[in-house]
Amino acid sequence: MLKIKNLNSYYGKVHALKNVSLHLKHGEIVTLIGANGAGKTTLLNSLSAVIPPGSGDIIFEGASIRNLPPDRIVKHGISQVPEGRQVFNPLSVADNLELGAYLRYRSREGKSEIAKDLDTVYALFPRLLERRKQLAGTLSGGEQQMLAIGRALMAKPRLLLLDEPSMGLAPLVVQEIFRVLETLRKEKKTTILLVEQNAKAALRLADRGYVLETGKVILEGLSSELLENKEVQRAYLGKE
Ligand code: ATP
Repeated sequence: MLKIKNLNSYYGKVHALKNVSLHLKHGEIVTLIGANGAGKTTLLNSLSAVIPPGSGDIIFEGASIRNLPPDRIVKHGISQVPEGRQVFNPLSVADNLELGAYLRYRSREGKSEIAKDLDTVYALFPRLLERRKQLAGTLSGGEQQMLAIGRALMAKPRLLLLDEPSMGLAPLVVQEIFRVLETLRKEKKTTILLVEQNAKAALRLADRGYVLETGKVILEGLSSELLENKEVQRAYLGKE
């Protein structure tokens, strides 16, 4: 479904991604793990065209999306849940979700289709339904994360990019969010690329993983293999 080939990315002189290649198959959950500054966010932002890729190619469902602007990427079926949630604080939960479907309204997609997806989001996150009139800025961190995921889902993505969804959240909330990701994969066949510092939880959820270190992929494999890998255990899983 997605193939990244020899991607390089720069911030001025900082070479943040160095010949990164990776792929995702339809319906997979793949996680990207790595220390702070390894380049995980840069990779997601290059995919969603938040930052321009330097060189290399990004092929999505058979066509290059490398030079497309962010709105076209969303239209192609890729949505990103950004690091730190970035919900629209002064707007209600319901309005944040509607904004996620903005491009669909603009392309005159039927309102009933969009309303159905709103129901799906509320079914996945009943907490958002309870709080649909509340201002996003007054939600708890966990609720804001649910809202950020819900908003991304309103664009109807086939590929969902998540940047550190567990950041700063209590373990029970993280469990709830990961359970929703599992449901999305199972019931909606959504393909998921998950960036996580919480490598253990991410590898338990994912089918496969890539380890990034200073902008390079240094290891890849099935999650079960990475969980057993001594190097990964020592560096990322907190085991001797
Ligand atoms: P974290 O887990 O801390 O978010 P990360 O793996 O997502 O880390 P990136 O944010 O992708 O890492 O950063 C990769 C490298 O690029 C780092 O060396 C970082 O300092 C640098 N970098 C990121 N954003 C910028 C920027 N806007 N300007 C200059 N350098 C940047």
